[in-house]
Amino acid sequence: MPTTHTTRMLIIGSGPAGLSAAIYGARAGMAPIVVQGLQPGGQLTITTDVENYPGFRDVVQGPWLMQEMQAQAEHVGTRMLWDTILSVDLASTPFRAVGDSGDIYEGDVVVIATGAQAKWLGVPGEAELGGKGVSACATCDGFFYRGKKVVVIGGGNTAVEEALYLTNHSKDVTLIHRRDTLRAEKILRDRLLAHPHIKVLWNKAVSRFSGDPASGGLKAVEMIDTVTGAASSIETDGAFVAIGHAPATELFKGQLELDENGYLIVEPGTPKTAIPGVFACGDVMDHVYRQAVTAAGTGCMAALDAERFLASRAFAEAQREAAE
Ligand code: NDP
Repeated sequence: MPTTHTTRMLIIGSGPAGLSAAIYGARAGMAPIVVQGLQPGGQLTITTDVENYPGFRDVVQGPWLMQEMQAQAEHVGTRMLWDTILSVDLASTPFRAVGDSGDIYEGDVVVIATGAQAKWLGVPGEAELGGKGVSACATCDGFFYRGKKVVVIGGGNTAVEEALYLTNHSKDVTLIHRRDTLRAEKILRDRLLAHPHIKVLWNKAVSRFSGDPASGGLKAVEMIDTVTGAASSIETDGAFVAIGHAPATELFKGQLELDENGYLIVEPGTPKTAIPGVFACGDVMDHVYRQAVTAAGTGCMAALDAERFLASRAFAEAQREAAE
């Protein structure tokens, strides 16, 4: 039997943005509900070492950091619910969302913190060999390739971090990049290029993942040289696609404005969407910084603005009643 959950503050998503909004919202007396989504804890649960989140001198683990944030949010009065929102109705208040469980969630304000998901190349063999040699998460799946040959595709921070991470498991890691320079920041580039167990294939666009999903999985990655057009291939046991992320905004199409890359548009410098009482924070609205700490920061901003929104609405209602 579906249940209707009502709250002053409904938060969709449980990464650093959603949980920071929850911590601030709970402490402001809004008794938030967080609907956790398909990946409770968000992207940091599929990363390993975090050494840039303020407050920790030593490296901490992403999953641990998210467990701590969740414990803190619950400790101050947040209700965490394990469900995935399938539809939202932002046309009237209370705002309404329906979960995969059939449960209904109603909130006086909504904080959207649905984050972003890994992008795929879309080449032949990728989908068929997904989970059978092709992955988008070295932290999740790297362990399965202990002592084997692996490749990483991409040239940003994620790809470089994944390649470095994979050297914990493999002495034969190849980074495949479509250009001859890496987008990743210098400290990571330097570490990668100096690493004895990583080689880089420059100017190579992956054209196919070949192998047999029913027997042995991935065997090789086929490539085209982006300068000469020459075809080549590399034998490998595992391939990690690390070419960026797409924001999880499908739910809001037609109700909120999206930019050309699908990110939610907010009033510059704020987490406010065009609908009063609906706020967006974290990677779902930020294609520039995309850091755990910036997500947490915008989550805080969303909760502060949500509290101000509810307070000003309550004040206006009280004035109207007094005038009647
Ligand atoms: P980015 O968008 O930064 O990089 C994506 C990489 O994939 C680029 O090198 C791009 O190539 C390549 N790429 C994209 N599409 C294709 C394609 N179809 N075929 C082949 N290659 C492709 O994404 P990241 O996930 O690396 O990083 C996202 C954000 O998160 C960044 O702002 C990054 O700084 C941040 N981040 C920070 C970390 C940290 O601080 N520790 C860790 C991880 C991420 P090209 O360069 O040619 O465009």
